[in-house]
Amino acid sequence: MRYKNLQYWDGIGDSLQDGDICVEDGRFVDETRAESRDLSGCFAIPGLIDAHIHLCLNPEVRDPDDQTLPGREQLLDEMRGRAETMLRAGITAARDLGGGQYLELQVRDEIARGDVAGPRLICAGQPITSRGGHCHFWGGEADSTGQALEVLQRQDARGVDLIKIMVTGGNITPGSAPKDSQFDDDTVCEVVRAANARGYHVAAHCHGTDGIRQAADAGVTTVEHCSWVGESGWGKQFDEGVVARLAENQVWVSPTINSGWKRFKQEAFVQMVGGNYERMKAAGVRLIASTDAGIPNVFHHDLPVALPVFASFAGLSQLEVLKSATSDCASAIGLGEVTGAIRPGLSADFVVYEKNPLEDLAALENPIMVVSRGIATEITR
Ligand SMILES: [Zn+2]
Repeated sequence: MRYKNLQYWDGIGDSLQDGDICVEDGRFVDETRAESRDLSGCFAIPGLIDAHIHLCLNPEVRDPDDQTLPGREQLLDEMRGRAETMLRAGITAARDLGGGQYLELQVRDEIARGDVAGPRLICAGQPITSRGGHCHFWGGEADSTGQALEVLQRQDARGVDLIKIMVTGGNITPGSAPKDSQFDDDTVCEVVRAANARGYHVAAHCHGTDGIRQAADAGVTTVEHCSWVGESGWGKQFDEGVVARLAENQVWVSPTINSGWKRFKQEAFVQMVGGNYERMKAAGVRLIASTDAGIPNVFHHDLPVALPVFASFAGLSQLEVLKSATSDCASAIGLGEVTGAIRPGLSADFVVYEKNPLEDLAALENPIMVVSRGIATEITR
């Protein structure tokens, strides 16, 4: 198929180009003799990528213990529904950072086979956590380095795509403190070493500064949240030395800023948190777009609405935030050779808008067509 007369941004360059987008067998190609479709006046960008979601979580359910009540089959149906809303919002890839029952792996495979409409998923399965630690209810508890490695092996046997470790406590788990590390330095290093040896990236959940230090030193692939929490409170223990380690080890940071952060706009503490991301960026740490979709009130199709909020909090230009959700995000999560840019050879994943998202990010809220692996879905409202 030849999509004609568009203006498109390839996900890498600095400006729009005029021309046609050619697709054959689900990939972008230089030229095609196939049928064409005129899209004069429209704009296209690569499909959006969310680096942190939980397909198994219902954002309308507050208590994590209530999440599994509907039972396996209904949960699977709900997850398929969420995947479809993501695709229709222009999200063509996402990284699932944890669940308890491996249902997201099943949905991942259904999407890959073309049985279900949804974004390309890469999944972490059960995150490694401490006994009673953050998200222990997902089943990845470990008391020692040996047990942490056993949890890792179990994920490997289930066919995950990467390993997630809860380096610090978190908010949604009662009795877990976001500022505290859940493991000693050696355990974090051993998990990263064992994961890398098996070809896996590691995503590290870190709110507290001590955990960010452990993750940076261990050389994880991405730090999730990166909230700089310490004794004095949320965001207040920013550490230049640790930031330097993140930059040196080329660790990506995934701040999980969702559209709900709009409500904090005037609050001094969130301005400070946003300032931390700006300082990280200035120090050479690369940021990627993520929402933590599935947590209370964060819906799975949130990313297009979240991106302007992320841009304003982290001081990113429109182009920078779009890269953080396309080519940069793909590189960070190991899909750089697969998707994230409109380039010959990559999967034909792109979104068409009537307005130019490079000029106004609000355009992202209204896609008119989403193409995923070369298959076009018209979005009518
Ligand atoms: Zn999460």
